Amino acid sequence: MVSPDPVSGPMSRPLSGIVVQKYGGSSVADAAAIKRVARRIVEAKKAGNAVVVAVSAMGDSTDELLDLANQVSPLPPARELDMLLTSGERISMALLAMAISDLGFSARSFTGSQAGVITDSVHGKAKIIDVTPGRIQSAIDEGHIVIVAGFQGVSQDTKEITTLGRGGTDTTAVALAAALQADVCEIYTDVDGVFTADPRIVPAAQKLATVTYEEMLELAACGAKVLHLRCVEYARRYDIPIHVRSSFSQLEGTVVSGSIDHQEPTMEQAIIAGVAHDRSEAKITVVGVPDKVGEAARIFEALAGAQINLDMIVQNVSAAATNLTDISFTLPRSDGQTAMTTLASLQSEVGFDSLLYDDKIGKVSLIGAGMRSHPGVTAKFFSALAGAGVSLRMISTSEIRISVVVDEDEVDSAVAAAHTAFDLDASEVEAVVYGGSGR
Ligand code: ASP
Ligand code: MG
Repeated sequence: MVSPDPVSGPMSRPLSGIVVQKYGGSSVADAAAIKRVARRIVEAKKAGNAVVVAVSAMGDSTDELLDLANQVSPLPPARELDMLLTSGERISMALLAMAISDLGFSARSFTGSQAGVITDSVHGKAKIIDVTPGRIQSAIDEGHIVIVAGFQGVSQDTKEITTLGRGGTDTTAVALAAALQADVCEIYTDVDGVFTADPRIVPAAQKLATVTYEEMLELAACGAKVLHLRCVEYARRYDIPIHVRSSFSQLEGTVVSGSIDHQEPTMEQAIIAGVAHDRSEAKITVVGVPDKVGEAARIFEALAGAQINLDMIVQNVSAAATNLTDISFTLPRSDGQTAMTTLASLQSEVGFDSLLYDDKIGKVSLIGAGMRSHPGVTAKFFSALAGAGVSLRMISTSEIRISVVVDEDEVDSAVAAAHTAFDLDASEVEAVVYGGSGR
């Protein structure tokens, strides 16, 4: 063990602190990147922290493993798929520990199961139900830097290895931070923080210095890919501040913390935190549903039974002459096939006319706690979209969000128009995308 350097400068922290850091796939894409991340981890250790790292698989290797699985079987068994996918993080964790040891510091890597990440038994989208960090705590106490394989755990009931769903390493990091009572969870990624819109669409997007848990939850749920939704839910529940920042620069990123309920409403506070978009949904319309009590319930019970999460739902007023109504809803495109099959099998029982499927849609959402106290936000949003020639297909709202479904090829112009209308455009372009294939 190398003894810690004297602590100095703005990066210094209290000597007792535990810092949890997460590095995403693009931050550990190759050997050089792994060595760079190792140096960064060692800096945090030298500053006097106990450091626990959750790491993703290298680059696009999870996608490559999935492609490989699909080449040997069109429908790989879920248990085996989790076995396969968790191997990606085992590679990066071991290489990272080696690179750290090469810098003269001792590191120990652990699989999710070894680290005490206990989940339910749902392969491919397991939920963390407990973290028992005994082995990690002992490794910290012995002075080691701890590296944990992201996005995986072990089922409490079946004892099988599980994965938390794509992007789940963020959640691993926050769960570890909560279990270890860490001071902060730093999420290192390939962008400088959370932006007011996707900089790939709006080059004038600005980095947010801070954002509340609720706004971040809405941003993540509405397609902002910078943080995994479940990680934000977890951080909110345990009140763990998340610092989202780039592993490619030393810039301060975005701190996600605090609740909208405890915000002091000030004049300067931005009304809108950002504009998010999502191209991963499809829309299904059930045409000609008899307008009788219980018909909608039957449709939605069947979809729930098939484990499909719906997003927006709209029921049209029934035509007086026919007493038939149309019900439309959006859902993840990846569930489109299952939903259509499930509904088709209900057709004679419910007696609707037909089913329509449309996956050429996108969702654009305006998010901000300030809209609770500022009238006219909806009017301004819709007139900006109208000005850009965008037609609205569906609308839904929450306390701090307005979402619209538009045609897929109008998503970019809708996002840009809303961003400009709410004065979110920066005067100078500051967004940098450092790496990643966006895959
Ligand atoms: N490697 C997994 C994925 O690509 C988990 C993660 O990166 O968080 O989804
Ligand atoms: Mg990845």
